[in-house]
Amino acid sequence: METIRRLLIRGARILNPARGEDYVGNILIEGDRVSAVSENLYDDNAEVIEAKGLVAVPGFVDLHVHLRDPGFTDKEDIHTGCRAAAAGGVTSLLCMPNTKPAIDNVDTVHYILEEAKTADAHVYVAAAITKGLQGTELCDLKALREAGAMALSDDGRPVVDTTCLVEAMCRAPELGMIVAAHCEDLFLAKKWYLNEGETSAELGLPGVPAAAEDCGTAREIAVAAAYDVPVHICHVSTKTSAALIRDAKARGVKVTAETAPHYLLMTDRELLKKDADYRMNPPLRAEADRLAMIEAVKDGTIDVIATDHAPHTVEEKSDFLKAPNGSIGMETSFAGAYTALVKTGILTLGELVEKMSVRPAQILGIEAGVIGAGQTADIVLIDENEEWVVDPDKLHGKSRNTPFKGMTLQGKVKVTVCGGRVVYNEL
Ligand SMILES: [Zn+2]
Repeated sequence: METIRRLLIRGARILNPARGEDYVGNILIEGDRVSAVSENLYDDNAEVIEAKGLVAVPGFVDLHVHLRDPGFTDKEDIHTGCRAAAAGGVTSLLCMPNTKPAIDNVDTVHYILEEAKTADAHVYVAAAITKGLQGTELCDLKALREAGAMALSDDGRPVVDTTCLVEAMCRAPELGMIVAAHCEDLFLAKKWYLNEGETSAELGLPGVPAAAEDCGTAREIAVAAAYDVPVHICHVSTKTSAALIRDAKARGVKVTAETAPHYLLMTDRELLKKDADYRMNPPLRAEADRLAMIEAVKDGTIDVIATDHAPHTVEEKSDFLKAPNGSIGMETSFAGAYTALVKTGILTLGELVEKMSVRPAQILGIEAGVIGAGQTADIVLIDENEEWVVDPDKLHGKSRNTPFKGMTLQGKVKVTVCGGRVVYNEL
């Protein structure tokens, strides 16, 4: 008979906002589940992780990840993407459908879920709303759900034909899925390299106006309001989109939203470096937008911090103007968010954990976001005080396109336990 593996995390500050708990104690894990959590708990037969001085929090849930697999495995694959997740304390992630083939068919959903079984994070699938993400022909949503997809999105692009968006948003609740909306007006965003503003003018380059994002946000909210159905707004980056979401929430519209750490810490001034690692979609915006994102996170307009982890190879990113959009983020998401929000006193650590674990788990409807007996053992040990410089060559995914390179961040993931397995350990 195989003995069940026992792991004891000893002496951590257990910060478990889903249950309002914050105390120093021990966590016992048996197999893939937490079996006990308490102040005094011993097990002579367990492997021990000494966690004195560290904070134990529920594993992070990243609602916006591009794993690039199938089709673009020179950038990332399911296993390397999940290794990057583990290094960032992300134990559950939602992967986006702009793969090749796109996740618009049952076989691709099966392929990802099968590969993910041996990966270092729990992978949830966002399937495409329209065939080939072309925005005009609806996928077989029921079949995608039955294959295991948890969410619907045309991410990378907006759902071009609004009737397809309406259909997906109206059917998603009965299918038990969420719709994650990439908000962008493709006509306004036609040809661009960065945010439209002072910096784009200085560089003499065409910019994308904030209105390109805001028109999309307004459309998604209008559909949610008209049909009384939920929508989750992806990667919010502008002042006006934040205001639209805030107003919608006040009116009882079922809207949730995410932003990413780079929108909290950087502006389009970074583009003066003419380095494509700072180019993503939506682009880094103006200082007023950055401040509006922080305000929106603080007042609850933004529910979730996600990454939009979007790997591209060094070669692809070598040309400032020709490079594809996107930056990696899972390994820096906690530290980036901690530096922007907790170090500055805007949020408590518990409030940040709510936005990185509790709320995204609730929104996606998965078992995560809580430390407790009987729950899946997804736990991260954090050193709140450690400062570190982001070195792209020390990251764990395949790609290096991080806009945080060279930055000093505070807050470090030291150990990640995913489903009872130690998937990352730098102690
Ligand atoms: Zn997107």
